[in-house]
Parts: sequence; structure tokens; C-alpha cells
Amino acid sequence: NFAERSEEQVSGAKVIAQALKTQDVEYIFGIVGIPVTEIAIAAQQLGIKYIGMRNEQAACYAASAIGYLTGRPGVCLVVSGPGLIHALGGMANANMNCWPLLMIGGSSERNQETMGAFQEFPQVEACRLYTKFSARPSSIEAIPFVIEKVQYLTAVRTSIYGRPGACYVDIPADFVNLQVNVNSLKYTECCMSPPISMAETSAVRMAASVIRNAKQPLLIIGKGAAYAHAEENIKKLVEQYKLPFLPTPMGKGVVPDNHPNCVGAARSRALQFADVIVLFGARLNWILHFGLPPRYQPDVKFIQVDICAEELGNNVKPTVTLLGDVSAVSKQLLEELDKTSWEYPPESKWWKTLREKMKSNEAASKELASKKSLPMNYYTVFYHVQEQLPRDCFVVSEGANTMDIGRTVLQNYLPRHRLDAGTFGTMGVGLGFAIAAAMVAKDRHPGQRVICVEGDSAFGFSGMEVETICRYNLPIILLVVNNNGIYQGFDMDAWKETLKFQDPTAVVPPMCLLPNSHYEQIMTAFGGKGYFVETPEELQKSLRQSLADTSKPSLINIMIEPQATRKAQQWLGRKGTQV
Ligand code: ADP
Ligand code: MG
Repeated sequence: NFAERSEEQVSGAKVIAQALKTQDVEYIFGIVGIPVTEIAIAAQQLGIKYIGMRNEQAACYAASAIGYLTGRPGVCLVVSGPGLIHALGGMANANMNCWPLLMIGGSSERNQETMGAFQEFPQVEACRLYTKFSARPSSIEAIPFVIEKVQYLTAVRTSIYGRPGACYVDIPADFVNLQVNVNSLKYTECCMSPPISMAETSAVRMAASVIRNAKQPLLIIGKGAAYAHAEENIKKLVEQYKLPFLPTPMGKGVVPDNHPNCVGAARSRALQFADVIVLFGARLNWILHFGLPPRYQPDVKFIQVDICAEELGNNVKPTVTLLGDVSAVSKQLLEELDKTSWEYPPESKWWKTLREKMKSNEAASKELASKKSLPMNYYTVFYHVQEQLPRDCFVVSEGANTMDIGRTVLQNYLPRHRLDAGTFGTMGVGLGFAIAAAMVAKDRHPGQRVICVEGDSAFGFSGMEVETICRYNLPIILLVVNNNGIYQGFDMDAWKETLKFQDPTAVVPPMCLLPNSHYEQIMTAFGGKGYFVETPEELQKSLRQSLADTSKPSLINIMIEPQATRKAQQWLGRKGTQV
């Protein structure tokens, strides 16, 4: 019996799949080909869901969104050379966003290396810039190689411990079909969730005292807070102490956008005049204008909560640093503030200023939204979408004005239910993110819908993933807000003028895309539902039908004014003038 067992052989592909299964990997996104097809098949046989995509870049975006939404890395599986290179964009995006991701790339056979092998490329080196960890298990003998490689799936741990990020594991082509004796294999245990770290008690005490003495406090809630599941503790902080809060784009929904203490509609004003700002898992990068004047007071006191020590003090010297997990640290703050009967006065001048600003900003957007002229403007479109948006849906969004204006109108009520271009400002993420969200919805939040709001240019980057959506019949609703271009486009008349020239490349403005493109036909081509809409009534009707029909994906191509822009942002310049 023992002799029989000891002769049992297993392929490298199966060993990799088993190692992934042992690490609780649920989803693999990728495109198969030499040398990774066997890995995908082996994974599927073990019950791991394999989602075949149309471009590695979109596959990698999808896998990274899994990491953010579930806290465990999604896997992106790609072939060697060009396949891996296509995925670099997704890896960079994940790493910039601090999202866990496990990238597995096939590479050339070891005995052909440096000989000009098929799709040979220095993959481990290439990935180093985009990851926390990039490695190929190396040894002399083939079998220990495979085992070591399996143990290398501690890449999962690196991806979720500390500041989350992307990891790369390189699989030489010859590993895949190599047979090893089962008895020589040992699988590492499933890596546990990261240990929770708390901030220093004295720092917490100091932070509480700074908050109690604030005249114009503000809490900023970032996607680090969303990732950390800090919603319960942060909501308590907001409500118990009557503090105003501002979500970053993906921090939306940690506390619902319609909460009375949300000052999103007075964002510029809140940032500019706050005297104490608590940052919950949000970096002082371009999204938050670096924390510097003129967008902030020169002497604003920052209390910075982050899990990454290296982040503390970037761009601005914080008054208090709280190194630790956002959820645990906000609980510490709650307990500390609870020691006195303090609350921020709800009738303060600061609250009055913020409320007035919110009112006037909301009125200005409403006025734009009520404009009856055709083609529609952004505000009209988003107000009609918001009216029908299910409260528990995932909102995925990308584009320039489409994403920026959409963010101000479309509300999130649940944490980790907004995905967009993120820290890296990446265009092309939308469809991959929507596919990942649809998988997560199906497995964890049955009934929740995914609404993916795309600019027409943004849609183009990964448009063929509509086939993926239709193949797996994911009930995603894609809205393409179509202005015939990047930022702005031409209408048909202006376009016809350009066609009079012999060489259109000399006269077509770089931001122009083909006017009146029927993107909805991409959806109908694969059996989904497509709508071309030009009026608010058509928009309302198509949206209602799409929401009612859970049996199919749909795409609503919404024609808007090609020259439409956002309303001017108002913040008080250095001399107190409106700029
Ligand atoms: P946003 O784009 O929403 O402003 P950022 O991506 O700039 O957010 O910042 C997120 C921050 O959250 C990062 O600095 C990251 O280190 C931090 N972070 C991630 N997970 C946690 C956690 N569990 N606890 C505390 N901070 C976290
Ligand atoms: Mg556009």
C-alpha cells in the first residue's frame, strides 16, 4: 500500500492549483495559453472560479478589485511575455491603490532562457516596480523547485499583511507539466488574516484632546477605512460626537452619503477652513491636494491614522500620528473620547457655514439637472440615474467629467460599494471592476446590482469585456455617458466639416471620437440588451427596464451635449476671492 502511494505522480499545474486552494483563493481572472492553460483547468477542478477575460489588463483590474472587496487576493493568471506585460497596468493600479493581488505568470522554459525562447522576457524584474514582492522560486533540482514555489505562495501573506499590495509569482513553463511524487509535497497552511495593530495609548490620548479642542473639525474617510471594515466604529465617532465627515471617492459609503453629517457637497469649503482634520486611511496625495495651502489652512492640525508607518508625515507634518488598523484605532478613539461628556456643538458657526455651502452647491447642481435642453448635460443624466439607483448597488465609475460629476450626484449607502479610477487615475478599469463586483455580489450579497457608469472614452479601453459579461451572463448595467470624445467631442455638424479635408488626421481634434457611436450594439452583439437614449424619458425607461430584468446584462448609451462640462468649482483663493 505504501509503495503504491509513493509512486503517485502529480503535475506542477495541479500543485499550483492546490496551493491556491489551500490559501482560500476563490477567483482567478485571466487569459489562458501556453504555458498556463493547465493551471486554470486544475484550479477549476478544485472548485476555484475561473473567469476568462479578453485582455490581461482587464483581468488584472478584476482580480485586484476582488482583493479590495474581500480582503483576500484575487489571482490574475497570464501567459508569458506580452500577456504579463499587458497585466502590468493592473498590477501598478493595485499597488498604487494598496489593494492585495496575486499575479501568476507563466514564463519560458528554464533550459531555453537567454536563447530567445518563445515570449521570453525578464518577468520577475519587470514586476518588481509594480509589486511588494516579485519572485521565481529557484533551485537546481526540479522537484524541490515546485515545492519551494508552492511555499512561495506566502505571496498571499505579503499581499495582505502591512500595507496591502500586489505580488508576483513566476512559473517557468516546464514546471506546469512536470510530474512530482505526491509524497514529496507539503502544503503550507492557509495564511491567517493580518494581525490587528493598535495605536500607542499616549498618542490616542493626545488625538482625543486635539479633537476636543477643535473649532472646525473634519473627519476624512478614505478607502483604507473601507478596506479595514471600519464602518461601525467611524459611524459611531461621527454620530456620538456630532462631527462632520468627508469621504474620499472610494471612502464613499463607509458612512452613508445621505448621512446628515456628510459634508461632501461642501468639500472644498470643508478642506479649506478645517482647523483639525482626522485622516482615516487616506493619503495626502493629489486627491486631497497634498494637505497644503491654499486648499487648506497653513496651520491645520492633521491627525493621521494609517497602517503604514512610512506614510505618516508625507507632505505635511501631522500633529498626531496613530499607527495602526483604522477600525481598531477608531475604536480606541471612541473609548478615549467617551471618558468625558464632550461632543462637538451641533449649532456651531462651522456647522452653519458648511450647511449653507452644501445648500447652495446642491441648489446649483439641481438647477443644471433641471435644464430641459437637448442633448442632455451630465447633471440631468445623473439626477435621473440617482432617482432609480438601488440603495445597495455597487457603483463602478470611470471617465473624466463622467466620474467626477457622477461622484457628486450618485450616492453610496454601503461600504466597499464604489470602485473607480482611484489613486492612479486609471482609465479602463471599469469593466474589470464591474465583473469582479458582480462575482462578489453573486457569492456574498445576492440580489445586489452592479451599475457601471462609463465615459465613452473610458469604455473603449476594455470594451470587449462586454463579451465576458455576456458569456457569464452577469446582470451588470453599463451606462455609457457619451459626449463623442475625451473631455469634449464634436457634434455631427462639426464632424462633417472635418471630413471635407483630405487628411482627417490633420484636423480631427485629438480629443474627438466618432460622433453618435452606437456602443449599445456591442452589447446586443453578444445577446445582452442595448439602448440608445437621447432624452430624459428614454433614459428613465431604459434604466427601469434594465433594473427590472435580472436575467441579462444591458448597456445604455446616453447621448449628451458634446461640449458639456462641470460647473465651476468654488474655493476661496489666497486673497479670499472666489476663483
Ligand atoms: P483614498 O484614495 O481614499 O484617499 P488612499 O489610497 O490614498 O485612500 O489611502 C489609503 C490608506 O489606507 C493607505 O495609506 C494605506 O496604507 C491605508 N490602509 C490600508 N489598510 C489599512 C488598515 N487596515 N488600517 C489602516 N490604514 C490602512
Ligand atoms: Mg467622453
